[in-house]
Amino acid sequence: MTSSARPLLNRRLAEFGTTIFAEMSALALRTGSINLGQGFPDTDGPEEIREAAVRALRDGRGNQYPPGPGIPEVRTAIAAHQQRRYGLSYDPDTEVLVTAGATEAIAAALLALVEPGDEVVAFEPYYDSYAACIAMAGGTRVPVTLRPHEGSFRLDLDELRAAVTDRTRLLLINTPHNPTGTVLTREELTTIAELAVERDLLVVTDEVYEHLVFDEAEHLPLATFPGMRDRTVSIGSAGKTFSFTGWKVGWATAAPGLIAAVRSAKQYLTYVSSGPFQYAVAEALALPDSYFASFREDMLAQRDLLTAGLEEAGFKVFRPAGTYFITTDIRPLGETDGFAFCRALPERAGVVAIPNAVFYDHREAGAPFVRFAFCKQLNVLDEAVARLKRLTS
Ligand SMILES: *Cc1c(COP(=O)(O)O)cnc(C)c1O
Repeated sequence: MTSSARPLLNRRLAEFGTTIFAEMSALALRTGSINLGQGFPDTDGPEEIREAAVRALRDGRGNQYPPGPGIPEVRTAIAAHQQRRYGLSYDPDTEVLVTAGATEAIAAALLALVEPGDEVVAFEPYYDSYAACIAMAGGTRVPVTLRPHEGSFRLDLDELRAAVTDRTRLLLINTPHNPTGTVLTREELTTIAELAVERDLLVVTDEVYEHLVFDEAEHLPLATFPGMRDRTVSIGSAGKTFSFTGWKVGWATAAPGLIAAVRSAKQYLTYVSSGPFQYAVAEALALPDSYFASFREDMLAQRDLLTAGLEEAGFKVFRPAGTYFITTDIRPLGETDGFAFCRALPERAGVVAIPNAVFYDHREAGAPFVRFAFCKQLNVLDEAVARLKRLTS
């Protein structure tokens, strides 16, 4: 018997009971709306990579437990990718770990590196798993709020410095940043790196959108900055980079001690995952530069279509420099509450979006912002844009 006086969900997780995505996806279904809430592509990745997965399955590669750190082929391919793109050199045997998506890499890193009571500094709005993973690790999250500044959301570097205390163990960084589309600049990253070195902090950096960077923005891995290689766990995702989000193949790269620590936590979460898909991802990582260029160009066209449509529909748009997402300000539409706006939007316009406030501790700071995903086919975005015009007609 359970005591009725005691809630079933423990105190660490009580505040994370249900996600907005469940509510909004149900609403999309019920109203026949176009779902620009959740961030997954509606087109699968390259056919040849799907075929590689089929071949692995048929040939009996990966159908049983793969090695704990990941199959050697994909660890070698991850290390080669980091070398080729960024000049970062990692030993595939001791400095690369394959995980069940970036999600598990984040969870395992926090569970391994955070002692109960440690403070973890992270930007808000947060990716939705960060707060829950910090809580599961027994850590205390310390948000640094990204604020609108000249058309994008920026970090206040003094606020970041002030957030670090003697109890801070780790900085949790995300660039390109979901949901704001901000890509941290060289100057911002330099300050973060200097701070980490000065205060002797570990850094976990979520770089799952490393290949989705637009216009003049450039993705600069934090691990390439002075003093960072040996204190940084860098996280990537085949789901995001190759448009196979259901495969759940992610990875962490870091110095041997850090990888050993993260692996210790990971082995008691999933132990291993995605056997045959690891073989396919090894091939995907070796695709020529033309794959990455056309992936980015396609996504850029989608960004531009939805940006223009949202502006025409009356939103203020923060043109994203990276990711799958556009953050908008609804105040020009005469609205102030993103929650109420998103709950009404399916009935009003047949489109689903997500209120950014759910990604904040300081909910009021996120109140007027609403996120739309543009990782959808052009005809779907066209239809969404046509529907959004109803807001002002
Ligand atoms: C999607 C996403 C992830 C999770 O990636 P998976 O590989 O699907 O687990 C992690 N971080 C951010 C910022 C994301 O947007």
